[in-house]
Amino acid sequence: MSVKTILTEPNKLLRQISKPVTKVGKEEQLLMDDMLETMYSANGIGLAAIQIGVPKRIIVMDISKDENKKEPRYFVNPLIKNKDTLRSTYEEGCLSVPNQFAEIDRPSKCEVEYLDYYGNEKILKAEGLLATCIQHEMDHLEGILFIDYLSKLKKSMIIKKLSKNKSTRIVV
Ligand code: ZN
Repeated sequence: MSVKTILTEPNKLLRQISKPVTKVGKEEQLLMDDMLETMYSANGIGLAAIQIGVPKRIIVMDISKDENKKEPRYFVNPLIKNKDTLRSTYEEGCLSVPNQFAEIDRPSKCEVEYLDYYGNEKILKAEGLLATCIQHEMDHLEGILFIDYLSKLKKSMIIKKLSKNKSTRIVV
């Protein structure tokens, strides 16, 4: 397992639509291992493959707060079914949009069909933080970031700030 570099906005790769996985094999499992380690080391609760530059429809998550009781979850080719009409609001952040947070509202419950780490078909009924996190991660597969839900002005301010932080400033 190894920790990979997480891409940050602005970066064209993050805007790419990820491709479905045809088979969950050794290569995909290794990718999921790396993604999980990368996510843990960045103190995140979710990560999509495209965030480390791999355009595959794969997500890893762990929303357990307990350091000693890790609960990794793996989603390959996830599909969202039955979104609730009720919405809930969370203050969201993203490893690809460092140090920026905003309140985003999304359907409060959803059902997800996916393949697990071993390629088995699964269905998960999610609500609360789990539902929000899955929807946030699935947006990554479509090249969508949470800042896309904000006003144009707010979004461009955030991108400007992030671009500034990227350039190396030298004062001599
Ligand atoms: Zn994210």
